[in-house]
Amino acid sequence: MLGPGLVLAGGVVLEGLSIASKELEGSARPIAAALVVIVAIVSLAGVLSLRPGTRRGWTSSSALTCLPSGAYLAARFTEGPWSHLTGILLPLLVLVVARSSEGRRARLGLFFAALVLLGATRRERPPPPRPPLPRSDVPAASGPSLVVLVIDTLRADALDPEGEIARFARGGVDFRQCVGAAPWTLPAIGSLLTGLMPSQHGALTAMTPLADEVTTLAELLRARGYATAAFTGGAFVGTAHHLDRGFEHFDAGCERRFAPFRRHVPLVWRLAKNRYVPLRWLVRWVDEFRGFAGVVAGARAWGEERKASGDTRPFFLLLHTYQVHDYYIYDPPVDDRVLEDGPGLSERFADRFSVHPSELSTATQADLDVFHRLYQGRVRAVEAGLPELERCVRDLAGENAVWVLTADHGEGFDAARGRVHHGGRLHEDLLRVPLLVHAPGRLPEGLVVESTVRSVDVMPTVLDLLDQPVPPGLAGESLLPALRGERAFPASAFAEERAHGFDLLTLRRDGWKWIRGPGHAELYRLAEDPREAFPLPGEPPGELRDELEAFSARFPARASAEIELDPATLEHLRALGYVR
Ligand SMILES: [Zn+2]
Repeated sequence: MLGPGLVLAGGVVLEGLSIASKELEGSARPIAAALVVIVAIVSLAGVLSLRPGTRRGWTSSSALTCLPSGAYLAARFTEGPWSHLTGILLPLLVLVVARSSEGRRARLGLFFAALVLLGATRRERPPPPRPPLPRSDVPAASGPSLVVLVIDTLRADALDPEGEIARFARGGVDFRQCVGAAPWTLPAIGSLLTGLMPSQHGALTAMTPLADEVTTLAELLRARGYATAAFTGGAFVGTAHHLDRGFEHFDAGCERRFAPFRRHVPLVWRLAKNRYVPLRWLVRWVDEFRGFAGVVAGARAWGEERKASGDTRPFFLLLHTYQVHDYYIYDPPVDDRVLEDGPGLSERFADRFSVHPSELSTATQADLDVFHRLYQGRVRAVEAGLPELERCVRDLAGENAVWVLTADHGEGFDAARGRVHHGGRLHEDLLRVPLLVHAPGRLPEGLVVESTVRSVDVMPTVLDLLDQPVPPGLAGESLLPALRGERAFPASAFAEERAHGFDLLTLRRDGWKWIRGPGHAELYRLAEDPREAFPLPGEPPGELRDELEAFSARFPARASAEIELDPATLEHLRALGYVR
């Protein structure tokens, strides 16, 4: 029994180190880490000095319960990062007490075991409270329902022509040249949900939320009698950056089995994910990530609740998944199949459970090709869940639903040009996203549109499809008149990157693409060079320059006031590689 005791004690050491390194800032970090090591060594020595079964020894059951119970209880019942240190100290205390009260050792062990069980049944504290929105008292609208599915990081060219999304595309309008407003999640989804450019809605950097005066699609529809609900992968698509505004029900944690990056995440999982121990089998067994299946399950549960409560309002359902985005964080059921089926990653990345995106930028093309296969595997996994989502929506709304399937931005896998991951640049691999719109009876089926459209057109278009007025001042426009042939499709598409130390703006127009920033300019002729492989020398046509100038004057970059992120969101953003 000494063996398991040692393993547990070792686990506590690693847990303490992990916590100390992540959650303590500034000068407290090295002190805390040193304390953890010292106390853990003393605890280990305590365990080693036990002689199970002998009169002076401690019963092995007590030894086995006191170490994890101390850490567990402290994490359950105390606040703040120091609780973990207390957790490491408690086992020592228990050992001392146990050695000085021999007659009651077994009972003491049982007492702690009971406390552990009590702790295990206590619910995790909820994330920072968001005042629940009451059901709107506006008379119920009578239009169709709306489903918007955002598959984070899905490139326009990543779809399998035989896959479920391609099948879905044939049921409506397939916009093949949709341009996102930004090359990373927060500003891009902000634009999708407001119809505004990032400089207008203010969510420009990881620390700036949507501006207060901006109205979201959910707020508009709720005010017009719609039920509103969102199931997302969290991080940027969460309460911290105010993307939950207007949603009566907002669940940002449905992609994970455990509340994300909280203290009660099993110790063994943290150890494995932090690469302290080579426990691939364990990661497979614990398998905390549910991905898109969790999003669909959340929507289904919400739908059943809605039916039970007799809510017959039309609804706006926003669904968002990081399953494709997180291709560099090990997801056993999906990734194992891909890795078995072809060459694997080089020694640098093989057997890693998570890779920081900054490491991708120095990966070889051979490794990026494997990552690209993992990425494609994730796309297939999301595609496999689409029919279940369609059944779920059909159960709720019959055929009377408008659908939008899109992405916020794409992803780069090109080592030679340094176009890897997303953010920090404005090339087509990041800006071109799929945009599929279904509206039975309102839009044709199987129509493919090759004209340029923009993510900012989504909000006015769906409002138009739902027969709701489109508010003035949006950067986008309804695409219905153009689809009816009454007007031309938008002539110009802009995108912005104002975070990560960049100040880039791009304009795509008449087959040209111009990317411009301080001391930086790239000009491409997209019509002949869709991959932007051959930057052209010289200046762009005057029209392009004038229009870009006019955009800058009309929408001067304006970030909202910075917010302080809660620890859970910060930790999630760190894991995704957005915050250091
Ligand atoms: Zn994203």
